[in-house]
Amino acid sequence: MKKTAPVAKNDFIDVVFEDLTHDGAGVAKVDGYPVFVPNGLPGEKAKIKVIKAGKGYGFGRLIELYDKSEYRVEVPEGEAHKYGGTQLKHISYEGQLQFKEKQVREVLSRIGKLEDFKIHPILGMEEPWQYRNKAQVPVGEKDGKLIAGFFKPRSHEIVDTNESLIQHPAVNEAVQTVKEICSQLGIQPYDEEAHKGVLRHIMARYGKTTGELMIVMVTRTTELPQKNKIVEQIVTRLPHIKSIVHNVNSKRTNVILGEKTKVLWGNEVIYDFIGDIKFAISALSFYQVNPDQTKVLYDKALEYAGLTGEESVIDAYCGIGTISLFLAQKAKNVFGVEVVPEAIEDARRNAQLNGINNTEFAAGEAEVVIPEWYKKGNKADVLVVDPPRKGCDEALLQTIIDMKPKKVVYVSCNPATLARDLRILEDGGYKTVEVQPVDMFPQTTHVEAVVKIALK
Ligand code: SAH
Repeated sequence: MKKTAPVAKNDFIDVVFEDLTHDGAGVAKVDGYPVFVPNGLPGEKAKIKVIKAGKGYGFGRLIELYDKSEYRVEVPEGEAHKYGGTQLKHISYEGQLQFKEKQVREVLSRIGKLEDFKIHPILGMEEPWQYRNKAQVPVGEKDGKLIAGFFKPRSHEIVDTNESLIQHPAVNEAVQTVKEICSQLGIQPYDEEAHKGVLRHIMARYGKTTGELMIVMVTRTTELPQKNKIVEQIVTRLPHIKSIVHNVNSKRTNVILGEKTKVLWGNEVIYDFIGDIKFAISALSFYQVNPDQTKVLYDKALEYAGLTGEESVIDAYCGIGTISLFLAQKAKNVFGVEVVPEAIEDARRNAQLNGINNTEFAAGEAEVVIPEWYKKGNKADVLVVDPPRKGCDEALLQTIIDMKPKKVVYVSCNPATLARDLRILEDGGYKTVEVQPVDMFPQTTHVEAVVKIALK
């Protein structure tokens, strides 16, 4: 039987929203057929216009709200609100936290087919704004002028704005200043379509506990024209500046940073503290964007690792050694693996910086390095993974299953791949014990969770 949609494009219909999708759109059902409508909230009655009616589901636009959810908050006018990557800002923070917690619970049951695991109430922030320590702002041209700001959703059109509500003010100020300097000096913006021009991105990173600022200027060209003048003006106008870096990315790609970096002024790294541990962070290294919640997350990871001082620990996807150094304080030794060589250099430097000498770091893919270690007879009592959104590679999961560490701690920024990987571990002899969602990214749809997994 061929399924047809009960609605057609351009229909105006009245609906009641029943749920939210993982990217925060309202879900209305018409005779069981789901229509996804940005800005609709569960429980709300509304008039919508159907924009697209596919076979299995459709999309709509909100035309009129007949009533309002108790979780709806007024969104002030302005482009930062419209485009700032803050998809949940129309939901009260309490509502956002409930949405994220529910999402973790449901995805683990639905995709992971997990039963009787314990999930704790999500840990949120007291002040869920201005928390980000890093911005990467795309640069373009409009009417002969250099512009920089946000991409409009699902497009490559840049909205020229200096405001972001979730960035730390020092980050906003830094981006704004560099933008003005480049504009005044007539630096040519990058033209994405033609793959011509010079300046592609301005990146700013701020160490919240140290007040140190890094600027990275990403160009298509190997040279950054007028670099001495740019440096001179940045140093004059931004007193917290500690590092100015030039990064070359000559490829046609959505990836922001290229592989080549050159320090134009100051240090190669900036410093920041998480808890008592000091971290050196270089331009290419991953560093959590919400340092306050990072402490909450790592404390939980440490608790779940349950260390007594006797354990050998492997930290896969270790970045600059953040979790490794946290764990090293309570473990016999920690072995970190990470694919970005610069991050491994940072990790080694960070161990030294903190006088921690029971860690070793290796550059390479976790799914290659850890199986090699295992073949040589190196085992871990506790294994921590903190992979990117795509989750763990299957070869790594298989090695974990063979190696049988007593405990696995999984830090995840994507509940769907987390659920998939937990299922594999459960089938391989592990049990998901506890799940702690942590809100690392207020106002956005991103969901983070840390999970304690033990041998059955
Ligand atoms: N645990 C660190 C980093 C987590 S982000 C922290 O909390 O700061 C994920 C890290 O995995 C990134 O640093 C990324 O460079 C790295 N990575 C991505 N794919 C990898 C792979 N296949 N093997 C090892 N590391 C990888």
